[in-house]
Amino acid sequence: MPRSITNKKVLDRYMALAIPDTKVQAMYIWIDGTGENLRSKTRTLDFVPKSPKELPIWNFDGSSTGQAEGSNSDVYLYPVALYPDPMRRGNNKLVLCETYKYNKTIADTNQRKHCLDVMEKAADHHPWFGLEQEYTLLDIDHHPLGWPKNGYPGPQGRYHCGVGAQNVYGRDICEAHYRACLYAGIKIAGTNAETMPAQWEFQIGPAEGIQAGDDLWVARYLLHRIAEDFNVQVSLDPKPVRGNWNGAGLHCNYSTKRMREEGGFQEIEKTIERLSTKHKQHLMAYDPHEGMDNVRRLTGSHEAPDINTFSSGVANRSVSIRIPRLVAEEQKGYLEDRRPASNADPYRVTEKLVTNDCLEQ
Ligand code: ADP
Ligand code: MN
Ligand code: MN
Ligand code: MN
Ligand code: MN
Repeated sequence: MPRSITNKKVLDRYMALAIPDTKVQAMYIWIDGTGENLRSKTRTLDFVPKSPKELPIWNFDGSSTGQAEGSNSDVYLYPVALYPDPMRRGNNKLVLCETYKYNKTIADTNQRKHCLDVMEKAADHHPWFGLEQEYTLLDIDHHPLGWPKNGYPGPQGRYHCGVGAQNVYGRDICEAHYRACLYAGIKIAGTNAETMPAQWEFQIGPAEGIQAGDDLWVARYLLHRIAEDFNVQVSLDPKPVRGNWNGAGLHCNYSTKRMREEGGFQEIEKTIERLSTKHKQHLMAYDPHEGMDNVRRLTGSHEAPDINTFSSGVANRSVSIRIPRLVAEEQKGYLEDRRPASNADPYRVTEKLVTNDCLEQ
């Protein structure tokens, strides 16, 4: 056992202490300079906030998070969304923040501001998103959780939505996370065990506009935080194990009001036509490394589409855009963009879809 592990039962004694009614612990959360990792720090408030606007702007040392030079290192945190804190409970809050540079311009990894602008312009279209976050649990030695230390588990086939100790690795984390998301008011739609053992998925949605990205980022924060309690790591790498093992995606299910109404199928077809003209540009935004992470994942096999060709089809899982079977039957509903990598920034993915489809750019 690593020596950094402490006794959670002793911790519970202190977490059960009553704190004064007027005091609130506010955990400010932000995306760091990598564009995929999260950071957080806490301050005490003397009131119970009802809206993010009531919260003070704060700052942090950006030179330690890859977000600023040492000589001009303060980065501002602007609170943008509030959630009940499932770890500290009571009146305590999680506070999702946008990052701004010393001169009040957006920090390089602040993708939310532009996403929000686009969502406001397209508000009449009522864009909904369903984000399927796939992730892999790793032991503290970076090895997939529960895998034999000197080899591999049996081949894929019995793990997807599996049950039983021989098929399922790390369900406690998935279950704890699901409850924590519900407690926090996150729009979590469900969970499932994935095709590779130790790989899992949760879904956010359907959520409208900016809420999809906000809820996904806070759900990611909770996942890392809860896995930390179990002394387990979460990897969002889109191809965590090379070879005959599925990669991990962030499938983005998408619809507009018109797609959900009678005759919606024609709208879905028009949207797919528009998306087909921007395949390369969209892939650049579908992982944090301008498409390089997805090169390892989008091979055309392991239920992932080929990176070089745009394709679509009903109920087909190796195409860029899948139309679910039920949507084809009902002639209305939504489409699924299967290209975004598991470590993609949902603000970029949802912004690209809406810019292309609703703003026709
Ligand atoms: P899959 O069959 O690809 O595994 P999932 O069931 O995991 O799909 O995820 C589907 C997601 O799509 C869910 O998050 C759900 O909330 C979302 N969703 C359902 N209807 C719509 C819609 N009309 N528009 C956008 N997203 C939707
Ligand atoms: Mn300090
Ligand atoms: Mn799914
Ligand atoms: Mn999946
Ligand atoms: Mn899917």
